[in-house]
Amino acid sequence: MTAFEVMLKDHIECFSQIRGYAVMVQQCNPSSAAYIHLHTDTDIFQRFFVCFEAQKRGFIEGCRPFISIGGCHLKGPYGGVILSAVALDANSGLYPLAYCICKGETLLSWSWFLRQLCCFLKYLEDRPICFISDRQKGVIGALKMYWPNASWAKDEEALLETSKTGDKHEFKKCIQDIGSINSQGMAYLAAIEPCHWSRHAFDKSIKCDHVTNNMTEAFNSMLKYFRAMTYLGLMEYIRRMVMSRFQQRKDECSRWGNGVPPAVNKKIKNNSVECKILRTLYSGQGKYEMLGVNRAYTVNLNDKTCECGQWQVSGVPCCHALASIRHHFGVSGNQCSLEDYIDPFVVQGSLSTNL
Ligand SMILES: [Zn+2]
Repeated sequence: MTAFEVMLKDHIECFSQIRGYAVMVQQCNPSSAAYIHLHTDTDIFQRFFVCFEAQKRGFIEGCRPFISIGGCHLKGPYGGVILSAVALDANSGLYPLAYCICKGETLLSWSWFLRQLCCFLKYLEDRPICFISDRQKGVIGALKMYWPNASWAKDEEALLETSKTGDKHEFKKCIQDIGSINSQGMAYLAAIEPCHWSRHAFDKSIKCDHVTNNMTEAFNSMLKYFRAMTYLGLMEYIRRMVMSRFQQRKDECSRWGNGVPPAVNKKIKNNSVECKILRTLYSGQGKYEMLGVNRAYTVNLNDKTCECGQWQVSGVPCCHALASIRHHFGVSGNQCSLEDYIDPFVVQGSLSTNL
């Protein structure tokens, strides 16, 4: 038997083992999801969805309501695609949530994957959720069907500067600049509502300022040559990888002194440097006007808002907010607790679960 024939035999045998694997997942990890879909007439394998209970719990209890979805081609003799849903933990680390092996990226396979995800997570309808995708075939249609209340963002890397701004005035200026050099580009953007691709118009309850879909790309790159393995070999690789990453992150977050993740601390440190050049004007009752080099921004500490938009979108005080907080506590003489001004979504530990 040639090496190719041996490999092919492994892949063929894998199909007969998938049912047993699904049963084992549910026995060893009660309440986890391992769903198989076979062709109704021929009984031929179509799709396989996996999400462990620990992944679900960690996402619901600790991650921001933000999910990146994408697909990646497999390289075995039967081809296929792995669809994945990847979230972000409090420290902006990748949080693999669920995955599905299927024949290809179609409306049917995306619909099936997103329906299983919706049913398994039992996500509350009134809780905010945002998906980001590269709008591959079928994704948006499937989202509208099974996550009708979700907001969704389009990966718009080519227009990154425009999509990054949290300030609607700057956004308008960027759009005008694009129009002055490329009218077709402006017409293209005009056809997509800003809430799907520009930070300033994102749903403020999501507390995530990502504008690119590099989360699923990063997850796909972790699969490496395992993409050529049997479907079960790939699933086992992912399970082990997720298990060890969860434990590693859990150990790391137990060392966070004040509960604020290093990524958030870094952002605050950078914003602290920027806030030194601002002039502070206090108008009473927690309201400020911060004068920068080019323009002024109004800050309201009670509402936790800044005109630049960054605080509302990311959940972390921007430089204008930090300057206001420092002034406010300097005036009142009260103990400053910066954590009170950071959104719980970005200080919660999402990694207290084990796989
Ligand atoms: Zn600001």
